[in-house]
Amino acid sequence: MIPHMNHLSVPFGDLGRQYRCIQAEIDAAVERVLRSGWYILGAEVAAFEQEFAACCGVAYGVGVASGTDALYLALVALGIGPGDEVITVANAGMYQAAAIIQTGACPVFVDIVPEVHTIDPRAVEAAITPRTRAVLPVHLYGRMADMPAVMAVASRAGLAVVEDAAQAHGAWAFDHDGNRRQAGAWGTCGCWSFYPSKNLGALGDGGAVVTDDAALAERLRRLRQYGWGSKYIVTEAGGRNSRLDEMQAAILRVKLGHLEAWNAARRERAAWYGALLAGLPLELPSDTPGHVYHLYVVASDRRDALRSHLTTQGIGTDIHYPLPAHLQPAYAAVPMRPTGAGSLPHTERQTRRILSLPMYPELTRSEVEQVAMAVQEGNKAAEEQG
Ligand SMILES: *Cc1c(COP(=O)(O)O)cnc(C)c1O
Repeated sequence: MIPHMNHLSVPFGDLGRQYRCIQAEIDAAVERVLRSGWYILGAEVAAFEQEFAACCGVAYGVGVASGTDALYLALVALGIGPGDEVITVANAGMYQAAAIIQTGACPVFVDIVPEVHTIDPRAVEAAITPRTRAVLPVHLYGRMADMPAVMAVASRAGLAVVEDAAQAHGAWAFDHDGNRRQAGAWGTCGCWSFYPSKNLGALGDGGAVVTDDAALAERLRRLRQYGWGSKYIVTEAGGRNSRLDEMQAAILRVKLGHLEAWNAARRERAAWYGALLAGLPLELPSDTPGHVYHLYVVASDRRDALRSHLTTQGIGTDIHYPLPAHLQPAYAAVPMRPTGAGSLPHTERQTRRILSLPMYPELTRSEVEQVAMAVQEGNKAAEEQG
């Protein structure tokens, strides 16, 4: 059917499968926009913003052009800039550092809790200085950071909390009262990407910020469109062009209706992997109820040998991410803390051990079995090599 994919027996990702499952709905939504004659910031974006915010359990949603822009604009809207520090992690793809650096603020990286790959709240507390303005936790791989602990530290210190929820559409965790609270609804605001491969993905780029703070949402609406308070009148400095378009919003509205079922399918596939891979010398992702498995990431001391074996068996894999932010070559001259190898031991160790296996709702049972069998063989082969 799709020849360019078929040389892999289990591709790491295959976005065409999802499109084919909901093709009629998507095509109808696209055609509706094409015929409407209105293509940027219109009724579809407004409706999606409301529907997505409601799904997160917050009052306001503001569509923007990408997840990285969502992070950047959220920080600017909070008044963060030169002289300020923002505490975040170094293992989550550099998007956070890129956004913080663009504002002129200084990224301060803290280590992770290694078993869950998310920010260590005690390390956050230890990194706070008089210049700290915000904490930027990442709900990595679909698992929420320890938000009750992060919020406790941040509120004691009077810091804003900007959640990077770009891998956590539909994820949730229990609050102190035992109620479910969605990703993006814990902090001052939540930032989202709708890059096509995310749990909720557009068919192009897109992003959003959600918040309960009306003034913050208003500022974001101005900042995403040149800083305009009204047409051609700039009332907010630091604005740019970062809009979500009508076509992507219409597509996202269709897909939002499937998100819960897709996340349930991801959790089912994670359970299959968990059962099939149990007992191997591999660290498997530990399950929590609100985990939505954007990625299925295992950790192994023989990661590179295992990955090579999977490649020879036609199994697509990836590494999220191969080089932490504090060791990126272009950032050597950029003010940030800490710097240099050895400064974030858990982050650096897991960077050498992590491996992402295929994980998407359309993955079949037999594909999961194929991957698991190849992982078992790969482990054996790696052990024999010593
Ligand atoms: C994808 C992603 C981003 C960036 O989103 P873009 O839309 O690609 O700019 C930010 N943070 C995390 C954790 C991501 O996975």
